[in-house]
Amino acid sequence: MTWLLNTLLGSLRIGVTEAFKADKDSRKINLGVGAYRDENGKPYVLNAVKKAEEILRTSNPDKEYLPITGLPEFTKAAIKLAYGAESAPLNENSIAVTQSISGTGALRIGGAFLGRFFPSAKTIYIPTPSWGNHTPIFRDSGLEVKQYRYFDKKTVGLDFDGLKEDLKNIPEKSIVLLHACAHNPTGVDPTPEQWKVISNIIKEKQAFPFFDMAYQGFASGDTTRDAFAVRYFVEQGHQVALSQSFAKNMGLYGERVGAFSLVTADPEEKSRVESQLKIVVRPMYSNPPVHGARIASTILNTPELNKEWEGEVKHMADRIISMRERLYNNLVAQGTPGEWGHIKSQIGMFSFTGLTTPQTKTLAEKAHIYMTADGRISMAGLNGHNIDYFSESVSKVVKG
Ligand code: PMP
Repeated sequence: MTWLLNTLLGSLRIGVTEAFKADKDSRKINLGVGAYRDENGKPYVLNAVKKAEEILRTSNPDKEYLPITGLPEFTKAAIKLAYGAESAPLNENSIAVTQSISGTGALRIGGAFLGRFFPSAKTIYIPTPSWGNHTPIFRDSGLEVKQYRYFDKKTVGLDFDGLKEDLKNIPEKSIVLLHACAHNPTGVDPTPEQWKVISNIIKEKQAFPFFDMAYQGFASGDTTRDAFAVRYFVEQGHQVALSQSFAKNMGLYGERVGAFSLVTADPEEKSRVESQLKIVVRPMYSNPPVHGARIASTILNTPELNKEWEGEVKHMADRIISMRERLYNNLVAQGTPGEWGHIKSQIGMFSFTGLTTPQTKTLAEKAHIYMTADGRISMAGLNGHNIDYFSESVSKVVKG
C-alpha cells in the first residue's frame, strides 16, 4: 500500500499559497504564484481580452465541437506569432500545428508524439533546474528524462561552459528541451550570441530542439524579440518542435489556450504529421476547448485589438522590469551584503534571488513573505505598495 501512503503524504505537504492564505498579517506577500498581478496585487484581465469577449458575445457563436486539432484561425495566427510572418516554412505551408490545453498540453502532445515516433533513443535533455512539471510531463509521455547544466549558483547566472560541455556529450540524435525565453525558474536566458553557439552544438549532435515558449512578449515586452531563439534556429535549418502558451501573455491562464507545432520538410510531410497528431490527441481529450481559442484568435486576427494587446504585454513586462530596478536599488541602498546585479539582469516573471532555504523560511515566519524554498520569487507579486517592505525584510534576513 505504498501508493496510498505516498498519496496521503503528498496531500500533507503545504504549498506556498496555502501558507499565505492561512497567514492573517496585513503585510503578507505571496511571491510564489506564477501569474501576473497588477499594481494592486490583483489578477489582471487584459482590455484586449475583454473587448474580444464582447465581440464574441455579440456574434453569438455556437458551442459545437472544434476539430481535433482545434480552431484553424487560432492555430494559424499562433504559429505566425511564434515563427514570424516572414518565416520560410510558414509561408511554404510546412508547419504542422494543433491547438492544445495551454502550454502543459502542448508539451504533453509533443512528448507523446516524440515518444511514439522519434526514431532514435527516446531521451529528452532538460536544463537544471527547469520548470517542475517538465520531468513528469515527459516521463508520462514515455520519454527518458535527463539533464544538462544550466544555472550557476555562484554567479546566479548561466553556466554556459557547463551547458556547452553537457550538450556536446549527449548521444547523437537526442531531444533537447530549450526554454525559448524567460527561463522558469531562474529568469536567466542565453544571449543571442550564446543561442548561436547552442544552435551549432545541436546541429553537430543532430539533436532535435524542442522549444517551450510560455512567455512570448512577457520577457522583454516585445513578442518579436522574445521569439529570437525559435526564429534563429528555424533560419539555421533546424526542424524544431514548439510549445506555445497564451496563459501569461494574454492572461488566459484558466482558459487553457496553447498550441503545439512542428516544422516539417514540406506540405506533404506536414499533413502526415498532422494526421499523427490527431491520433495522439483523439484518445487524450477528443478535441480542445473553444472559448479561449476564440478570444486569442479574435485578438491576433483583429489589427486594432492586436495592437492594444501588444501594448498591454509591454505594460506587464515593463512593470516587472521596473520592480526589478526598484528592488535592486533598495537592496544596494540598504547596504545588503552580496552582489544583486542578477535581480536586474534576469528576465521575465521569475527571479532566482539567491536567498537560501533557511532565509526563505525566516522571511515566511518573521515577515509574512512567501516564496518557494529555492529562493525563487515571482516579480509580478511585487508592487509600489509592498516593494519597500519586501526589500527591507530581505535586507534584514541577509544581514542575519
Ligand atoms: N512551461 C513553462 C516554462 C512554464 O513556466 C509554464 C507555466 N508555469 C508552462 C510551460 C505551462 O503553463 P500553462 O499550461 O499554464 O500554459
